[in-house]
Order: sequence, then structure tokens, then C-alpha cells
Amino acid sequence: MKRSIPANWKRCVTCEYWLGRRSPSHWRDHVEYDPNDDRGQCTGKLNRSTKSSGSVCSGWKKWSVLK
Ligand code: SF4
Repeated sequence: MKRSIPANWKRCVTCEYWLGRRSPSHWRDHVEYDPNDDRGQCTGKLNRSTKSSGSVCSGWKKWSVLK
């Protein structure tokens, strides 16, 4: 079952630097992801560590495909 969160919520899943599996919603104001497959590598501040969708850090930057 997919889950969706607003683009402005500061989480790894909405961050420019996260490499997990996700996709923008039709209007690009939400991110859709599978909570059972929500781990991905950080290429930003916590470089190379694997983070889950709900994690966050002070290096968050909105994913550039989102509004
Ligand atoms: S750990 Fe920080 S920089 Fe890395 S993906 Fe998550 S919010 Fe972005």
C-alpha cells in the first residue's frame, strides 16, 4: 500500500539527497512511496548512510521535482 506525504514536510523522502524509491504525485505537491520499501542512501549531509523515509537532518533540501 502506497503512502503519500506533503512536499513541505521535512523528511528524507522529500529531500533532494535521498536515493530511496519514491515518486512525485501528479501535481508534484506530495511524494508517494511504499512504507515497506522506504530505505535509501543519503547523498547529502549524512553521506552514504542508509536512511528511512521518515528520517530528517539539518541538511534537508526539498526534492527539486516537487513544488
Ligand atoms: S539525512 Fe538529511 S540530507 Fe540526507 S536525505 Fe535525509 S534529510 Fe536529506
